Amino acid sequence: MSKIRFNALKETMNRKPNKVSKTEKRSTLFGKNVFNKYAMQQYLTRTAYESVMNAIEHGTKIDRKIADQVAVSMKDWAISKGATHYTHWFQPLTGATAEKHDAFFESINGSLAMEKFDGEQLAQQEPAASSFPNGGIRNTFEARGYTAWDPTSPAFIYETTLCIPTIFVAYTGEALDNKTPLLRALQAIDTHATAVCKYFDKNASKVSATLGWEQEYFLIDDALANSRPDILLTGRTLVGHFSAKGQQLGDHYFGTIPARAMSFMQDLEQECMLLGIPVKTRHNEVAPNQFEIAPIYEEANLAVDHNSLLMDVMEKVSKRHKFKVLFHEKPFEGINGSGKHNNWSLSTADGTNLLSPGKTPMKNLQFLTFFINTIKAVYENEELLRASVASASNNLRLGSNEAPPPIISVFIGNQLSAVLDELENVTKGKLSPQEKTDLKLNIIGKIPEILLDNTDRNRTSPFAFTGNKFEFRAVGSSANCAIPMTVLNTIVAKQLKEFKVEVDKLIDTKNLKKDEAVFNVLREYIKASKKIRFEGDGYAENWEKEAKKRGLSNNKPAPEALKVQVSNKAIALYEEMGVMSKIEIEARYEIALEEYTKRLQIEGRVLGDMARNHVIPTAIIYQNTLLENTKNLKEIFGDDYKNIAKEQIELIMIISNHITEINALVIKMEEQRSKANKQKAVKSAEMYCNNVKPYFEEIRYHCDKLETMVDDNLWPLTKYRELLFTK
Ligand code: ADP
Ligand code: MG
Repeated sequence: MSKIRFNALKETMNRKPNKVSKTEKRSTLFGKNVFNKYAMQQYLTRTAYESVMNAIEHGTKIDRKIADQVAVSMKDWAISKGATHYTHWFQPLTGATAEKHDAFFESINGSLAMEKFDGEQLAQQEPAASSFPNGGIRNTFEARGYTAWDPTSPAFIYETTLCIPTIFVAYTGEALDNKTPLLRALQAIDTHATAVCKYFDKNASKVSATLGWEQEYFLIDDALANSRPDILLTGRTLVGHFSAKGQQLGDHYFGTIPARAMSFMQDLEQECMLLGIPVKTRHNEVAPNQFEIAPIYEEANLAVDHNSLLMDVMEKVSKRHKFKVLFHEKPFEGINGSGKHNNWSLSTADGTNLLSPGKTPMKNLQFLTFFINTIKAVYENEELLRASVASASNNLRLGSNEAPPPIISVFIGNQLSAVLDELENVTKGKLSPQEKTDLKLNIIGKIPEILLDNTDRNRTSPFAFTGNKFEFRAVGSSANCAIPMTVLNTIVAKQLKEFKVEVDKLIDTKNLKKDEAVFNVLREYIKASKKIRFEGDGYAENWEKEAKKRGLSNNKPAPEALKVQVSNKAIALYEEMGVMSKIEIEARYEIALEEYTKRLQIEGRVLGDMARNHVIPTAIIYQNTLLENTKNLKEIFGDDYKNIAKEQIELIMIISNHITEINALVIKMEEQRSKANKQKAVKSAEMYCNNVKPYFEEIRYHCDKLETMVDDNLWPLTKYRELLFTK
C-alpha cells in the first residue's frame, strides 16, 4: 500500500483553520509598511519630497545629494518599523520577482558598527545576476547588469526587509526585465494620449494607463499537493481521472468560502493592506477549491508591481495555512483553469476616465475617440496581443470553452455597436450645421452614462468593453501583467499617434473644424476595424470559421503565436514607440521559447516517471492479486473457474493492454524529446509542441483508465476528489 497518499489524507483531515487575530481596521492598516506620500512627508525634507514627487509625476531626475537624503530617511523609516535589511526588488525575465538582501549594518574599524544606507545603494545595485535569463543580451563574461531605483513605485517593507522596486538593465543599456519596457510603453501612451486629449481640453497635461487585475488561483492542501510529483514539479496534474463530481452543479461559484480558505484570505488581505495593495474583492470561482482576489485599480506600473508582489505574498501566507497555492492556468483536467483578467483604461491627471462616457457631447466625443482608437489598435495588432498571452500553460486553457479562444476579437455591446453603426454614415468632409446638431443630440449625445449597467457581459470575448474600461480576458493566471500591458499600451499609443497626424492633416489641408476632422477620421476607423468586432459566442465552432473568413489570426500553438513578436512589423512598432530595441525583442522571444520548451521537457519527464514508476508497478501489484485469485478459484472449482473468474481474467487482460501501451508511448515520447533537445530554440519549441506534447494526452488516457480499475487502497497518487474536495 502506498503510504504517502494515505498519510497526506490523514494529515489533511485533521486540519483546523488558523485563527487570524483581529487587528486594526483595514483603513488604518493600509499602506503602513509603504514609504508612500504620507511617510515621505514625515521623513523627507521639503526639497527632497518635491524632488521625488517630480520624479514620480514628470519623470525628472533625482540629483545625487537628494538621493542621499532620501536614502537616509528611507533607512530611518524602515528601521523604525523593524527592518534590518534592504533589497532591490525587480522582475527579471523569468516572469517572477527577484531580490537579494543586504543588511543595513556596516562595521567601522572592525569593532564598532552602524546602520548605513546611502544614495548610491538606493539608486543602483549590481546583483550577481548572471544566471537570470537574458536571451543572449548579456554575455556572462562581459557586460554585467544593474538594478536602478524606480521612484514611481514606492518602497515597502516585507517581513524585515526594505524592498526597493527597481528596473534591471544591462550595462550596455538593454532592458533585462519586464518593468523597463512597461515603463517605456507607459511613457509612450502618456505622450500620445495627452496630445490627443488636447483636442478636447487645452490644459491636458498627463494621461496614465490604469490596470485592475483579477487573480484566480487554486488552494490545495499542502500535504496532498506535495504527495503528487506532478503538482510539486510542474504546478499541474499530468494524470488523474476526474472526480465523479466536478463543477457541474455550480455549487462552489460564489458560494460560502470554506473556513480554512477564509482564514487564509483574511491573513492575506491583512498583509496586502500593510503593503498598500488595495485588494477589495474575494470570492469562490467556478471550479472546486478555486478562488479569486481583485483589487481596486491603480496606475498600471504600480498595479503590475502589486500583482507580482501579491503572488509572492500568497505563496508565503499559504504556507502558514498549510496550503499550496496554484497559479497554473490549467492545474486539473475537466474543470476550469485560472486566468487573470486585465481591466485597462486611461486616466487624465484630474482623474477623468477617458473610456467612460461623459455628460456632454464634447466629453462623449473624447470618449469615442479613445474607444474607437483602442478598437482600431487591437484590430491592427491582434496577433501581437495574442502573442502577449502565449505560454505553454496558458495554452492549455485558451479556447477550451472556459476561456476565450486564441482568436482576438472585441466585444462592445449592442448600444455602442449601434452608435458606431450610425457614425459610419457621417458625411465625408465638412458637416452641415443640421448634421452637427443631429450628431450632438441624437448620437453621441445619447451615449448613456449608465452604460456600465447595460453592457451585457459576454464572457466568451477575449477583449470586452465593460462600461468604462476594456477587459483583456486572455491573460493567464501565472503571467506577469507587464507583458500584456506593454503590448496594449504600445499599440494604443501608436494608434493615437497616427490618429493625431490624420486629424491635423484634415484640419490643415481640408480646412475642417476640429470636431469635423475627428468625426471624419473616426468614421474611417470604424469602417476599417469592423472585422475585429464580434458580439457572438466566442466558444462556438462557427466563430472559428467566421473569423477565418474575416482574416483574423488563430495562432493556436504557443510557438507560432510567439513568433509574431519578432515580425518586422512588431519590431518597427516597438522601435518607433521607443519601447524595445530589436535586440531586446529578440532576446524576449528566445527566452519565451526556451521557457516553453523547458516546461514541456519537465512535464514530459515527470509524466514518464509517474507512468513508469508509479502507475505501472501499482497496476502490476493489482494484476497479481487478480492472478492469485484466479489461480485459487481454479484450484477449488477446477475447469469451472473460467466462468467464475471471467471478470478477473478480463481485467487481467485489460490491465496488460494498458501497461503495454503506456510503455510503448513513453518510449516514443522519449525518442521525440531527445530529437527535439538537439535542435536550436525555434525548432526545438516547435518539435516539443508538435511531436512531444501529443503523447501527454495519450499516456494520460491509459494511466487514468488504470486508476479506475485498480484497488483504491493500492493507488499511490492522491486522487482528484481528494485534491479538490478536501476543504
Ligand atoms: P468582474 O469582471 O469580475 O465582473 P468588475 O468588472 O467589477 O469585475 O471589475 C473588475 C476589476 O476592474 C476591478 O479590479 C476594478 O478595480 C477594475 N476596474 C474598474 N474600473 C477600472 C478602470 N477605470 N481602469 C482599470 N481597471 C478598472
Ligand atoms: Mg472580469
